[in-house]
Amino acid sequence: MSNANRSLKLLFSKNTFIGSFYDINNIPEFHLPEFCFIGRSNVGKSTIINSITKNKKLAKTSKTPGLTKSINLFKIDNTLNIIDLPGYGYAKVSKDIRNQLLELIESYILNRKNLINIFVLIDCKIGLKDSDIDIFDFISTSNNKFSIILTKIDKCSFDFTQKQIDSIKTLMNNYKKNFIKIFSSSSKKNEGILDIQKEIFNLSKKI
Ligand code: GDP
Repeated sequence: MSNANRSLKLLFSKNTFIGSFYDINNIPEFHLPEFCFIGRSNVGKSTIINSITKNKKLAKTSKTPGLTKSINLFKIDNTLNIIDLPGYGYAKVSKDIRNQLLELIESYILNRKNLINIFVLIDCKIGLKDSDIDIFDFISTSNNKFSIILTKIDKCSFDFTQKQIDSIKTLMNNYKKNFIKIFSSSSKKNEGILDIQKEIFNLSKKI
């Protein structure tokens, strides 16, 4: 491993869980660049935040999807913030709760001044759903930037993964002003994690 990659790994391992929040006005900001993770329930969001921070306990992973109803904030070495947003599109919770969660997500995206980039996670095997398109549409009206992370690629063949990437890229022609790039990852095989860490670090230095 190169020295640069080693220091990146070290940086992300210096993390602190700040807390869970239900109201965007209560979330501290620390004047740090912030990166949030969002996706349908069970997409592998907690697991990838664990992989990025190298902390198995940081974002609680759950076998029961749809449980994260709060916004969780992690501070990385006084350098940047990582935000774990609630999962969306979980069919087994009531419509009221689903709407509440969407409101929380949308108010975060609209109001968070230190937000630099939104990572939208898509399960490679499942692909895009209407609820993902709704999120892309919302982000583009909010004028924020987003990247996509295709998760759990260990469950798919190379060719299938490539096809998913190609079809997502085609759709992204509709979001040219907001879309940055697409990553593919497997937390299980620790693939693509370093690329995401590099992207976060580089973007945090640009402001
Ligand atoms: P969340 O609801 O989006 O936070 O999803 P979780 O992180 O709790 O993951 C949901 C399920 O997917 C769990 O059973 C994880 O073990 C599994 N999972 C997460 N990442 C991967 C991955 O890269 N590969 C595979 N095969 N399974 C994964």
